Amino acid sequence: MNQLMHGTIPLTARLEPWMQRLLADGTECQELIRLHGSPVNVHEFSALGRNADELRTVAAGYGLDFRVYLARKANKTIGAIDAAVAADCGVDVASLNELKQVLERGVDPEQIIVTAAVKSRELLAMALEHAVVVSLDNQDEVEVLLEIAGALGIRAKVALRLASAHHLIPATRFGLRAERWLTFLGGIELSSGLDIAGIHFHLNGYSAEQRSHLVFEAVELTDELVKLGYQPSFIDIGGGIPMSYLEHAEEWEAFWVALAQQEAGSEEITWKSDALGSFDGAPSGAVYPYYQKLIRGPWLEAVLRAHPDGSLTSIADLLVQRKLQLRCEPGRSLLDGCGLTLASVAFAKERSDGVPLLGLHMNRTQCRSTSADFLLDPILVHSADPPRTREPFSGFLVGAYCIEEELLLRRRFEFPLGAAPRDLMAFPNTAGYLMHIVESASHQLPLAVNVVAEGNGWKIDEIEERVLLP
Ligand SMILES: *Cc1c(COP(=O)(O)O)cnc(C)c1O
Repeated sequence: MNQLMHGTIPLTARLEPWMQRLLADGTECQELIRLHGSPVNVHEFSALGRNADELRTVAAGYGLDFRVYLARKANKTIGAIDAAVAADCGVDVASLNELKQVLERGVDPEQIIVTAAVKSRELLAMALEHAVVVSLDNQDEVEVLLEIAGALGIRAKVALRLASAHHLIPATRFGLRAERWLTFLGGIELSSGLDIAGIHFHLNGYSAEQRSHLVFEAVELTDELVKLGYQPSFIDIGGGIPMSYLEHAEEWEAFWVALAQQEAGSEEITWKSDALGSFDGAPSGAVYPYYQKLIRGPWLEAVLRAHPDGSLTSIADLLVQRKLQLRCEPGRSLLDGCGLTLASVAFAKERSDGVPLLGLHMNRTQCRSTSADFLLDPILVHSADPPRTREPFSGFLVGAYCIEEELLLRRRFEFPLGAAPRDLMAFPNTAGYLMHIVESASHQLPLAVNVVAEGNGWKIDEIEERVLLP
């Protein structure tokens, strides 16, 4: 639990040593805000290689040929691309701009995969020209791709995006089932220009069991493709590799129990008694599981040693026997420990009924994902020269949008030694999605500036200079 600020029910963040060092230096934090405004997204990517190595060690233990691709949509900085390359990772791109930037940055086209959900002709053409693998979602997309490839006189390197037919796995908008792909491919000539390099999928959620089922289906599909004369060489299991944001499992469990006991109308724990989608003391599916037990390495181990549906051979052995390379595309869990968001306090006041509020120079899209709330305690950094005396209080964090529900976080926080303008607040571990996935320039408020560690200081990330393609 943090000294200057914590949730009324605390949820203490895990911190990297670089975060602890920065937050212990109030002057350096103030300088970052003075130079770049509030909030500022601060990146230090040394954890990325360690996160990738954790996965590699497990794969190597099973004798697997294995590659990690950073899902770039989780963080838009150019620094993240450089960090991925430095850690010998590839990059998974989800748009034309993402592809253009990684190519310009010098990423080997062999180490890129395009997985955009909807692909423009420009995106397909750029991928084709650089022989970048495209994950195919549907037949219409294949037709357009083949048409462009034909016009360019080249073959298309692709992966088939596989939708599961397994009863345990929910229906998906992404990809096609194996039988649909096979029927479709049976109707086109091998000479039509498709080189099927592998099978790709990306599942919602974090289940190791579901992934082992789908790898099994993907292996069966590669066997069928070989019969048709194709030579698939990899299976890409996408992202969703779990991570844990919290220091203690006990805090996570205690939070949900306490939330279930919060009385309607009380704001002791959350704004307007928000149950965050939970009602029985169990973690809600509407929020990311900020504490998880089985993460990264041990999670991959669970996928690989599984024998789905009683298969005699384990997932790892199925892959090794066929010499299939295993690939994955983690976003969040690869960026674990790589960033924090720093904002300054604008005001302290009371809601008209007396509930204390602390206003920050920040809006709620600047630390948000698709999860209903970010369930981590921020860290308060007192300034050396507050404009007035601080008084202890307990209340909520509000932001810059002109909306009553503009809460930066939905939980109530305790400030045992108070807070005042010029104080700073750090939102820890935000590099995966929390900074960029829903950020908006509504009200014409500028987007947060991104900085990356360089030497003993920080430099502005080059993404700030990029002109986006239409
Ligand atoms: C979003 C996405 C990822 C990354 O998911 P994480 O949960 O961040 O690991 C990987 N691959 C595809 C195709 C995606 O859409």
